[in-house]
Amino acid sequence: MIGLGRFGCHLAGSLTRLGHRVLAVDRDPDRVQRWSAVLDRVVQADATEEQALRQLGIDDFTRVVVAIGASVEASVLTVLALTEVGVPQVWARATSRKHAKILASVGAHHVVFPEAETGERVAHLIVSRMLDFM
Ligand code: ATP
Repeated sequence: MIGLGRFGCHLAGSLTRLGHRVLAVDRDPDRVQRWSAVLDRVVQADATEEQALRQLGIDDFTRVVVAIGASVEASVLTVLALTEVGVPQVWARATSRKHAKILASVGAHHVVFPEAETGERVAHLIVSRMLDFM
């Protein structure tokens, strides 16, 4: 898991509870310290640096999630570095259609839109509850 913002840390926590071993990476030392108490393995690194990723042994991982959202540059450079390393499945978070297009063009295998997808799910939930009371 790369990026321990709200999305990344919830996803890392859920995967851990589902029984998977998760390596979490963030460049911010405060976030690394905060999540070290909760998650199994948390390390500080700049994920845009291919060499840093290799040193973490990222080439042994089958799946990597890039949960960085706000910084399009960091998210795109991280996906690029992961594809250069040869990670078989790179999942990446997009914050806009254009961001998603760039992520796919640099090699992301799966692109997710957490805010848009959650918004859509909640809208359906609200409408279905409205129908329950009609
Ligand atoms: P969220 O919406 O999930 O809360 P956020 O708005 O806090 O995210 P983002 O810019 O999306 O912030 O970054 C998510 C996390 O990714 C942050 O903890 C940030 O430190 C980390 N991050 C950003 N760039 C890099 C990088 N180059 N390498 C590693 N971690 C990074």
